[in-house]
Amino acid sequence: MTDPYPEHMMESVRRVNATRDERKDMEFDRIPEEESDELLRQWHPDYRKSDAAFFRELAVGPAKGKIVPTEVANVLEAHPRVNPSDVDLSEVEYSTELLVIGTGGAGLSAILWANNEGIAMEDILVSTALRLGDSNSKMSQGGIQACDGKDDSPMIHWLDVLSGGHWTNDRPLARDLVEKGPLAIKWLESLGATFDKEQDGDMQLLMAGGASRKRIHSCKDYTGLELTRVLMDEALSRDVNTLEFCPTVSLLTDGSGAVAGGLLWNMETEEYHVVRSKATVIATGGFGRLHVAGFPTTNHYAATCDGLVSAYRVGADIIHMQSTQYHPTGAAYPEQIVGLLVTEKCRSMGAQLVNDDGEAFIYPLEPRDVESAAELKEIGEGRGITTPTGQDGIWLDTPMIDKKRGEGALEDGLAAIYRLFTRFGIDPTEYPVLVHPTLHYQNGGIAINRDTQVVKPDGSPIENLFASGETTGGVHGDNRLMGNSWLEIVVFGRKSGISAAKHAKKAKMPKKSDLSLAHLDKYSKELEEAGIETERRTPIILPNYLGENTMKATGYGKEKPFKRRLDLFA
Ligand SMILES: Cc1cc2nc3c(=O)[nH]c(=O)nc-3n(C[C@H](O)[C@H](O)[C@H](O)COP(=O)(O)OP(=O)(O)OC[C@H]3O[C@@H](n4cnc5c(N)ncnc54)[C@H](O)[C@@H]3O)c2cc1C
Repeated sequence: MTDPYPEHMMESVRRVNATRDERKDMEFDRIPEEESDELLRQWHPDYRKSDAAFFRELAVGPAKGKIVPTEVANVLEAHPRVNPSDVDLSEVEYSTELLVIGTGGAGLSAILWANNEGIAMEDILVSTALRLGDSNSKMSQGGIQACDGKDDSPMIHWLDVLSGGHWTNDRPLARDLVEKGPLAIKWLESLGATFDKEQDGDMQLLMAGGASRKRIHSCKDYTGLELTRVLMDEALSRDVNTLEFCPTVSLLTDGSGAVAGGLLWNMETEEYHVVRSKATVIATGGFGRLHVAGFPTTNHYAATCDGLVSAYRVGADIIHMQSTQYHPTGAAYPEQIVGLLVTEKCRSMGAQLVNDDGEAFIYPLEPRDVESAAELKEIGEGRGITTPTGQDGIWLDTPMIDKKRGEGALEDGLAAIYRLFTRFGIDPTEYPVLVHPTLHYQNGGIAINRDTQVVKPDGSPIENLFASGETTGGVHGDNRLMGNSWLEIVVFGRKSGISAAKHAKKAKMPKKSDLSLAHLDKYSKELEEAGIETERRTPIILPNYLGENTMKATGYGKEKPFKRRLDLFA
């Protein structure tokens, strides 16, 4: 059989193989807090606030003065994609009780619960960038946290969420998250989700990085596919009314500042659709495709921060946007799959991170920011492995899984990962796989209150506007733990559906004559007054990897070509 790696990498693999037996029963200590703080400070991109290549202060909008990643500042400090004078708002095509934007787990949960709350399905209109259900939610792998184990409780889960978030979380939101965990699992099971079970029928629970109890519920390593399947099936069986390939490019207001619907762009016919609604839920997910700090990403193509951009222009505050989650194990070889996720479940099942010398250098289940920083340190100090295309990486010693759990454990519990690598001739039961931190999750986002109403910097709600899921911030503080996002989208997706439905039942339909895009003109004026001259237009909708558009939207100019800046830590 031919070797799956070039010879210089095989030499390193042999060093990893040589230490496997001695590492098998190795006991790892969690890093003391002072040490992990120091590691983060020196090696995590989030801690480079004073470096203009990474961060910039916002010069316009409700969060003016806040520091955000440069790529986020670029999409916010951009002209609206739509020119208000090109749109005839008197041509209202849809009048609906509820507009839901996005069909990942948060949007789908919102739709189902708004319907449960009494809004008829035909009175809910759904805008989605791609097809129904195309999302990060569907791509998720490892699992969902919920504190239903015998030795667990909402309080223990809550403390894990807070310590993972460096105690910066919105505590009431974090409390709502954990308290509803067991119910979320029951609801998903009632819709037909098949979670992995032990031989005796008990739920199989695994440990997540940064957690103190086993509370990951998974469906092999394609949990998101299974959970999205049941949510989509339920929505389809209730005849969900979806406009596919019709992203929302702006919110509408009624002239007084209250949100009155959305402006959708039909990607197939290249026409606008004017939608007026009594309530609107933004569930557009995160920003992976902005390639913050030049990192590759695990995210789907429509993860371009659109909902946040639209909300910002109607006055929404944004929080925790200075913090980005880099997942420690993105694929780093072969080149075709660079950035794709290698689930944390690998480490939950026993895989270790190992350097070029065959040394395991960190407890495998530290929080993700700490793991990523530790990898970047190993690479930065010369103990990484470099591929023929110049991509650096660290070994994830996957053969350790079968060694610890018995033959077949990896193929059974990590079927998708097995397939991901064997397609390229790398059998992860025999050979370690190469990984590097990859941009995974938007920790911060649109500010919401406990009813999921979108709020302004003074905490007052923006009338008729709700948001849930990865596009929002607060629950996870500055760092999310694995499995808490799927919990968030079920818990807060539900809440946003219920809150928006309750609101729509009381609200009046905005008058056609009041529909307005004046806030976009106002925003452009603010850019002008701040001296920002730019051709960037957002929301992006989809990145254009042909180059120029992505470069403009994310701020990379010709002088700074769009490429991975993996030498940042050199
Ligand atoms: C590869 C991968 C693995 C993961 N694994 C886990 C895991 O094991 N456990 C866990 O808890 N979390 C995991 N996560 C994170 C988690 O899956 C996401 O944070 C979560 O699913 C986000 O859900 P959402 O509904 O908020 O957004 P998404 O699921 O991303 O959905 C957003 C939706 O909005 C649409 N959209 C975007 N822009 C527009 C627009 N302008 N107009 C209309 N529609 C728009 C998108 O097409 C999509 O339908 C993973 C993420 C990835 C990428």
